[in-house]
Amino acid sequence: MIVGVDVDGVLRDFYGSLERTYLKYYHDHIIKDPPSFQLHELYPIGYKIYDFAFEEHAGEVLGFADAYRNAEGFMRMLHKFADIVIITSQPTKRAKVFTFAWLQRADILQHVDSVVIVQTNGLLKKHHIGVNYIIDDYPPNLMDFPQSKVIVFDQVWNKGLEWGKRCYSYDEILKYLQGRMTK
Ligand SMILES: [Mg+2]
Repeated sequence: MIVGVDVDGVLRDFYGSLERTYLKYYHDHIIKDPPSFQLHELYPIGYKIYDFAFEEHAGEVLGFADAYRNAEGFMRMLHKFADIVIITSQPTKRAKVFTFAWLQRADILQHVDSVVIVQTNGLLKKHHIGVNYIIDDYPPNLMDFPQSKVIVFDQVWNKGLEWGKRCYSYDEILKYLQGRMTK
């Protein structure tokens, strides 16, 4: 079984890290809460947030983000019965470099067989990678895959998505995939 695993919103707390870093520089700004997936709608600096997150402060936002609790343990357990491909979409060269560094820092790289970092808006899409299952949090990515392959990692911003299997915890994902080992 080959399982594709997304990074931001599944393993890495990108939103928490961006918020923390942003408030260091803009103490008095008020950030809106999701469900919007559009960062420029949540942050008062609007479209400048992309440069802030993926260029100017990419090291801090992406390289030093927290992993979600038990992310490393989850990947270790998953790797006992599945081959794992990290499949993440990153918009800049710096974002790619710091994402790879983060995988190493979070001790996750040791549990994966391959890392695919696709260019956001490039021709290579996540669904071009041949996996049996994909674990992701972003509805447009997930809807490119057939429902039978999809595991939605539950987040406030994907509540409305009814596509594939929704899982609320790492444990639930492990049980679900283990139950499908022979299928
Ligand atoms: Mg994601």
